[in-house]
Amino acid sequence: MGVRLALAIGGLILAALPASAQTRWPNGAKAAVVLTYDDALESHLANAIPALDAAGLKGTFFLANVKEADVDRWRRAAMSGHELANHTMFHPCTHDVYPADPRYVSEAYTPASMLREIAQMNVLLHALDGKDRHGMATPCGQSLAGGVDYLEELRKAGTVTYVRGVADAPSSARADVSKTDPMRVPSRPFDVGATAEKMIAYVREAEQGGGWAVFLFHGVGGDYTVLSDGEHRKFVAWLAQHRGEVWVTTLQEALDWAKAHPGK
Ligand SMILES: [Zn+2]
Repeated sequence: MGVRLALAIGGLILAALPASAQTRWPNGAKAAVVLTYDDALESHLANAIPALDAAGLKGTFFLANVKEADVDRWRRAAMSGHELANHTMFHPCTHDVYPADPRYVSEAYTPASMLREIAQMNVLLHALDGKDRHGMATPCGQSLAGGVDYLEELRKAGTVTYVRGVADAPSSARADVSKTDPMRVPSRPFDVGATAEKMIAYVREAEQGGGWAVFLFHGVGGDYTVLSDGEHRKFVAWLAQHRGEVWVTTLQEALDWAKAHPGK
């Protein structure tokens, strides 16, 4: 058999397979877009949230090391519909990745003490937003305590509704979001040098069968690993103009919707 014929037959077999199941988002939206912001930064309160509010869009904010002076602003953010979520109290990572006071690196924890800290953070979040379920993002994308992976213990404990990591999944694996393991939610970081154009390209990828696009931001026009405020605003404006085709929502809402509306 010639190579050409073999390729042609291969193409026919592929064409005969049913299209992979995709989540059916509300109002016929082609993709869901989730904007997540880590570390409770001043630039979220000063830049990101005002930009989202002006466009009528909601984001998901993973809080750690919350400053008392910011409590009222976080409370207002929750009241205006943004999701506040768990990023632990003290953001412990391994010493090599994120050097900190030796009492607050993940080597100093056990899975039990880490789970206790995550549960305590839920209490602070409840005081801020009045809600009794919260999702979480792992600090530095690591789920380690004393060198032990605590993710399965956290799943069993049911302390959080989901865990967002810092790594993306291939677009085909994101198509049916109801199949996403809630303890391993993918995300794609955009920071230094990212442009509105690159962010829009990620949304387009989701529209073409990727199901959803989960953005991960740190600083927005300030703090660290900074995405430019201007590019963030441009992107938010684009999302607002494309409301009909993309559903911009919080991570919890996207997961809840996907679970209730599995792909067919
Ligand atoms: Zn973080």
